[in-house]
Amino acid sequence: MFADDSEVGLAFVAALVNTAYEEKLTDVDALDAFVSEWKWTGHRARTLAELKEVRALRVRLRRLWDADEDEVVRIVNGLLREAQALPQLVKHDDWGYHLHATPSHAPLATRMAVEAAMAFIDVVRTGELSRLRKCEAADCRNVVIDLSKNRSKRFCDDGCGNRVAVAAYRERKRDKK
Ligand SMILES: [Zn+2]
Ligand SMILES: [Zn+2]
Repeated sequence: MFADDSEVGLAFVAALVNTAYEEKLTDVDALDAFVSEWKWTGHRARTLAELKEVRALRVRLRRLWDADEDEVVRIVNGLLREAQALPQLVKHDDWGYHLHATPSHAPLATRMAVEAAMAFIDVVRTGELSRLRKCEAADCRNVVIDLSKNRSKRFCDDGCGNRVAVAAYRERKRDKK
């Protein structure tokens, strides 16, 4: 549906936004773990300032889920402009040629902002903003990006799908008694 690197970028944005509700980026170590989980390479400051920048970016990215198309475009263009993004095809690690629009020595939050913006370019361009959803579990405030072929993703990646299924199963069992 989207380019591979866009799909990874979109999944990353959702994961980053979803670190906010029960704060998962509690300190620099937690940010380190998140960054390596998502295989970010390049420059790291490992400072509180860097952590704060990433948390601030998260707030801006969360707005994409409540915005209409024009507002999404404003956010995306703003992120690209601020970072002075300059798209370049690069190849590194196990990846084939893909786009980077910031140099690897740019601050982490800047690189994350641009990766997010680049991924959202694909969503806007293909008219797929309806793939941005909220998790349907009643007690969950996480966001969802539906990358499935049949547009069937209803729950976030924090296990809500399983949780809801288990609860429904218990309910059925109780009804039988
Ligand atoms: Zn890359
Ligand atoms: Zn959820």
